Amino acid sequence: MRQPTQPRRVVVLGSTGSIGVNTLDVMARHPDRLRVHALSAHSRMERLAEQAAACGAPVVVVPDDAARTRFIAAWRGATLPEVRVGAQALSDTAADTQCDMVVAAIVGAAGLPSALAAAHAGKRILLANKEALVAAGTLFMQAVRDKGAELLPIDSEHNAIFQCLPHHGPSASRAYAPAQPAAGVRRLLLTASGGPFRLTHPDDLHDVTPEQACAHPNWSMGRKISVDSATMVNKGLEVIEAHWLFAMPPERIEVLIHPQSVVHSLVEYVDGSVLAQLGNPDMRTPISYGLGFPDRLESGVGMLDLARAGRLDFDTPDFTRFPCLRLCFDALQAGQNACIALNAANEVAVQAFLEGRLPYTWISRVIEASLEWQAGRPSATLGSVEDVLAVDAAVRAYSGNLGLA
Ligand code: NAD
Ligand code: MG
Repeated sequence: MRQPTQPRRVVVLGSTGSIGVNTLDVMARHPDRLRVHALSAHSRMERLAEQAAACGAPVVVVPDDAARTRFIAAWRGATLPEVRVGAQALSDTAADTQCDMVVAAIVGAAGLPSALAAAHAGKRILLANKEALVAAGTLFMQAVRDKGAELLPIDSEHNAIFQCLPHHGPSASRAYAPAQPAAGVRRLLLTASGGPFRLTHPDDLHDVTPEQACAHPNWSMGRKISVDSATMVNKGLEVIEAHWLFAMPPERIEVLIHPQSVVHSLVEYVDGSVLAQLGNPDMRTPISYGLGFPDRLESGVGMLDLARAGRLDFDTPDFTRFPCLRLCFDALQAGQNACIALNAANEVAVQAFLEGRLPYTWISRVIEASLEWQAGRPSATLGSVEDVLAVDAAVRAYSGNLGLA
């Protein structure tokens, strides 16, 4: 395997989250290839201080002065890292000349400006933050193309599809942001576990608790994406994400329920061939793929025991049981203002649900009402990240008043 002469320097945005922790786990296995340049977190400064001390991060980014004080108080390492403060510092750090790769693992639209800054700076971007693409697909992909950034999807389904797509010719060793669907591809098939309520009767969903919604059968993830998996908003956001990443028209993207989460997604070609990527449900596989591409890195993920799994099941999704999935397809058809509204309303509703202010079944109602409200407004031109964030803020203000206790 080719060894780079200098370790590549990595910025991990959202290092204290589920993706961030898995990223640091993989990186610690390859100190000769990969080195942390900067870490960021929004809360849990003690955890951030532990991480920064363990990996020797020269820079950390925290949200405000109070967090900076907490970080310094929690510091137990040798030399204190440079502590940068605020949202602008996140974007500036993602564009630092000393950094080669940015792991975009902040949750929600809050991660958009820094992910976009990494694209503008022409970095290799390991994109976990799907909300950035949902809210700003055109802007983001255009920046990747214009600046020659390298975009590697970390979401397991998109990473699977990326691995199953053809990588031929002179660009084979570089990730790419295509302007049209790959030649010979007929359909993309995104698998979905169906989450914790796959078999729950719809009448029993009204009273489910955040703990029940976050108890995903196969994956251990942050709370917001866990709720998104329960409602299947997550799969809907992933359909939109796939549309942008692979320049694929919505009608050529399908969702397939696969409860075991072993087949991470599939690509169907015009000759009838279907290529799939399989593996244990462990995010260290797609993360190590992105960190090492085009090489393969040891990730700590165990061997797949298909004989033990015994069987792999597949089914079509039930749009009645999962109304949010239909709303996501509708938003994609309606355009980017609708996608911003979908994402913003969902973030507001999920937060309210997690805080006990909104019943579970109201998440879809808040999204639907917000999409209707947005459809009644003139569409904004989305030429900049500020334009996107203005629509996002207007929708949040509207949906924040819907049915919240
Ligand atoms: P998480 O909640 O575990 O972690 C989120 C991280 O972002 C934390 O470090 C937190 O401090 C930081 N953060 C939160 N709000 C912030 C803000 N306003 N500004 C700056 N930083 C902020 O989330 P996660 O599960 O790691 O997911 C991160 C992203 O990756 C999400 O977009 C999610 O959809 C995507 N993703 C996650 C998984 C998974 O297995 N966890 C899989 C695929 C995609
Ligand atoms: Mg996924």
